Amino acid sequence: MSVEPFDLTSTTRNPGFAKEVWPDKSKLFTCIQCGTCTASCPTAFAMDFNPRQLLRMLQLGLYEDVLKSKTFWLCTTCYSCTVRCPRGISITETFQALKRLSLAKGWEKKGDSARFYETFMEVVRRTGRMHETETMMRWMLNPKVLKDKPFRAFGFASLGLAMLRKGKMSLLPPKKIEGVDQVQAMFDKAAEIRARKEAR
Ligand code: SF4
Ligand code: SF4
Repeated sequence: MSVEPFDLTSTTRNPGFAKEVWPDKSKLFTCIQCGTCTASCPTAFAMDFNPRQLLRMLQLGLYEDVLKSKTFWLCTTCYSCTVRCPRGISITETFQALKRLSLAKGWEKKGDSARFYETFMEVVRRTGRMHETETMMRWMLNPKVLKDKPFRAFGFASLGLAMLRKGKMSLLPPKKIEGVDQVQAMFDKAAEIRARKEAR
């Protein structure tokens, strides 16, 4: 993949950016660019910058290019990179932190993946479980997703039908799990911890 050269003299560069990225603020600078993370990543092929490149961009403070990238949105949190990194950098959590930062800073690169995550979280918070049909319907009917790709639902029709036939999805509304209030308390606690960390 060819990558456009970056303007390292640009005023949009923020040398302190890596320090905003929890949890590995200082460890990020120990990355030796060995590429093990990229070689381990099952979704690197679809990323605009592979994990090694994004780590280097973070070190350089290219915050705009980092936050606009779709790399961290394509991270499936499989942890292969994190367990193999010779420097012990928590790449997975770093990418999670970038998702939060991207949303918190209101980058309008907020694409379908971000909206999918939000929808997924809404459904799990309300019912305590994943309900594929509701998640997909809510996501595809999100006004912004509809505006960007109004015919997206048709692309998923055959997959949805196959999943329904095999009993992998249900058209019945999701039942709340027992103790869903405890799940909601966990969501609230996580939001509280995140707000505290971001305020530091
Ligand atoms: S595996 Fe670790 S040290 Fe190697 S490039 Fe990736 S983040 Fe850097
Ligand atoms: S955790 Fe994310 S970045 Fe790391 S290997 Fe898995 S998909 Fe790739």
